[in-house]
Amino acid sequence: MPQINLISFGQFEVDFVHKIAESVSHDYNYKVAIREGHLDLADFFDPTRRQYNANELLKMVDTLFGDSGVKSFGLFNVDLFIPILTYIFGQAFLGGRTGIASTFRLSNDRYGLANKKETLLERTIKEVNHELGHTFGLVHCHVPGCVMTSSTYVEDIDQKKSTLCSNCRAQF
Ligand SMILES: [Zn+2]
Ligand SMILES: [Zn+2]
Repeated sequence: MPQINLISFGQFEVDFVHKIAESVSHDYNYKVAIREGHLDLADFFDPTRRQYNANELLKMVDTLFGDSGVKSFGLFNVDLFIPILTYIFGQAFLGGRTGIASTFRLSNDRYGLANKKETLLERTIKEVNHELGHTFGLVHCHVPGCVMTSSTYVEDIDQKKSTLCSNCRAQF
């Protein structure tokens, strides 16, 4: 079975990361191995935007963990941006071997709502599956509910399922 390496860069609970790995493994039928990553995130901080440069982080994860024949996925808990957007939930190399995502804007308490562990977990799984889909060469999909539909707000993420539609799946 092919493999995805899920690299935890935040102070995530072991159980949280395990549940993500389990779900992703099931959705893609890949073995998912959990790794612990350590990076000085200060190197990626943009003091003007007070956010972290996702393109540079993605490149660094690829440099440190990228491996041919394997997908490497970095999970963070800091606010990510790319120059053309206010913020992003995640980023990946299209058809590449590496992706990243952050839980920073996925938790309800970011929006003044009561935090629900289950909601954060579901959103994170969807975001990881979405970015992984890009590494498998999938572009944004317009089929309602498909995990490859694009999401600007967490509400968009809540609208979709964690899995690929049959069109996207057929492209594997
Ligand atoms: Zn996308
Ligand atoms: Zn789709």
